[in-house]
Amino acid sequence: VWDNCLSFIEDNITPQAFKTWFEPIKAVKLTDGALSIQVPSKFFYEWLEEHYVNLLKVSLTRELGEGAKLVYVIKMENTYGNKKPFTEKIPSSNRTPVNSQEVDVPIKSRNPELKNPFIIPGIRNVKIESQLNPNYNFENFLEGDSNRLARSAGMAVANKPGGTSFNPLLIFGGVGLGKTHLAHAIGVNIKDNYPEKTVLYISAEKFTQQYIESVKKNNRNDFIHFYQIIDVLIVDDIQLLSGKAGTQDVFFHIFNHLHQNGKQVILTSDKAPVDMQDIEQRLLSRFKWGLSAELHQPDFETRISIIKNKLYRDGVEMPEDIVEFLANNIKTNIRELEGAIISLIAHSSFNKKDITIDLAKTIVDNYVKNTKREVSIDYIQKVVSDYFQMDVETLQSKTRKRHIVQARQLAMFFAKKLTKASLASIGTQIGKRDHATVLHACKTVDNLSSTDKQFKKYVDDLRKKLTL
Ligand code: ADP
Ligand code: MG
Repeated sequence: VWDNCLSFIEDNITPQAFKTWFEPIKAVKLTDGALSIQVPSKFFYEWLEEHYVNLLKVSLTRELGEGAKLVYVIKMENTYGNKKPFTEKIPSSNRTPVNSQEVDVPIKSRNPELKNPFIIPGIRNVKIESQLNPNYNFENFLEGDSNRLARSAGMAVANKPGGTSFNPLLIFGGVGLGKTHLAHAIGVNIKDNYPEKTVLYISAEKFTQQYIESVKKNNRNDFIHFYQIIDVLIVDDIQLLSGKAGTQDVFFHIFNHLHQNGKQVILTSDKAPVDMQDIEQRLLSRFKWGLSAELHQPDFETRISIIKNKLYRDGVEMPEDIVEFLANNIKTNIRELEGAIISLIAHSSFNKKDITIDLAKTIVDNYVKNTKREVSIDYIQKVVSDYFQMDVETLQSKTRKRHIVQARQLAMFFAKKLTKASLASIGTQIGKRDHATVLHACKTVDNLSSTDKQFKKYVDDLRKKLTL
């Protein structure tokens, strides 16, 4: 029996650990489903209970079934040279018993329904699947001012998981700025550097679901134990724990256990810890123990290199001015930037058209319109009148003064460009004009901006203000 357990254990830990902690163990006897093993010292016993209790349980349950018990026999160091070894028996139930309902839920490894989804089933495998996406790595996470701190902290952690002061490492930043990518990259890199380490990536959402499930199935303790044997735990979008007291509580315990044992925790969030709401104070303060690194919006250079890298990987060529156009127009979200590139490529290949600026404009318009909050006509009027240092009533008035007319026309032009409102509705909102006036305004602005340099500057300035 013990030999079978050993070969199972051997498959699931490093050779070094196996040699140190399992080779010295002797099986002494087997009675009524209880296996006694002799260990060299009390410290040894404590270490096993601390680090390998789950593995021991699983291996023993596999051999002996659900009622399996483990009894440790500690061989006392015999300093007086007595012939008889002095032994002390400690039933394992003194601490974490293999099978006791009060302290612990038995691991029902023979019941497939209860298997943890991350454990690959199979005779020789109880390895935890890391759930990492190898396509999210450091090589294709391009560096720029916007991510330099987070990226290099991530690399430091990947080189020495649990061994830096960046524990936990909290990566925070807005949507689509690379949190998930970076979190995976760290995990992937750790797996490269330390294949024997157990790494687990999980979204806070999934973590919550699992937890709720475990409570329903009455195996909350299994859930906790499972997370406590992980070396590197990556939890994505931790802000989603907000308002979920039970999950926060269980996460708090898991976090503490891992942290105390020098295990690495990596978290991401769309907010800085100070801005997280409905998260317990004790958790928030834990989050701040290590390093909080922000992912900012990428600057122009970084956006250009992200676009080029993506095109290069997809084997697509795109004229430089279009690359710049994209980089200029999609600034706040790298996922949108990638989405626009993909639909641009798709459109051009589908319609067998070259990728032109006009096509790019249409797509970016759709993209930005669909994903961003639409600017309102009120807002446009306010920005335009501020720009020309007049008030909105003046802009809307009937006056024919040239600079006021221009401002009004610009407001109409941008209302047409940046909102979905009809010409008629724009006219009504900007000083009660009709649709023909608005149409005329749009044409005038188009004409003037190609002939009048000063006017073109107005258009460019205002576009920047309005689309920022
Ligand atoms: P978040 O989790 O912050 O919402 P993601 O990690 O999902 O953002 O990133 C969105 C997309 O942008 C992904 O496809 C990712 O690969 C890409 N991305 C983000 N940052 C970078 C970067 N620095 N270099 C290359 N691609 C990036
Ligand atoms: Mg994400």
